[in-house]
Amino acid sequence: MSGNEAQTTTRTVAQATLVRRARDKLAYKPADVSPQRRLQRRYTMRLWSVRHARFLEWVYARFADLFLALHPVWNAIGYVRAERPVKFIERQVKGLMFDCRMCGQCVLSATGMSCPMNCPKQLRNGPCGGVRANGHCEVEPDMPCVWVKAWEGAQTMRATDAILAVQKPVDQSLRETSAWLRVTALAAGERGDRPESGA
Ligand code: SF4
Repeated sequence: MSGNEAQTTTRTVAQATLVRRARDKLAYKPADVSPQRRLQRRYTMRLWSVRHARFLEWVYARFADLFLALHPVWNAIGYVRAERPVKFIERQVKGLMFDCRMCGQCVLSATGMSCPMNCPKQLRNGPCGGVRANGHCEVEPDMPCVWVKAWEGAQTMRATDAILAVQKPVDQSLRETSAWLRVTALAAGERGDRPESGA
């Protein structure tokens, strides 16, 4: 074999090896990734929030105070103008922690930090009659019932009995609005500070 032939063979082998390696990488499929598995991962964060309901209750109380203290800032900007950026942040944070559906009328502090809008029937006042023996949802068998979790979370919170309060039906006109800003505007209004819409 001439020197040139040997070089060509080596280059061909090297290229073939690279192609095989690339193909192996492309062909790689993680064994445990499925839509269901992905959903379970989302439940993981949601369930963490329920387990730490008392801590999150404390954090939210501080956070609500801070938001109210910022009322002059919201007023200067205008509540309507502040809505978009605040809503964006609220969606990211609460989406990650609670799988928030942005109903705009948050009841997490009364539901053990378990968002009732994740109930497939969107029940706001306790579970339906179809909870499975293992505490999972009858519609989504892989999902723990949000109301079973709500009860567990509520037992660890200071406001344990808040879960007994009857919630109003969801006001659909508040969907996709910031609950943080709405609660702040209401609290400011109650203490006599008129919120400026800035519209
Ligand atoms: S109750 Fe509404 S605002 Fe609160 S986490 Fe659930 S969907 Fe979001």
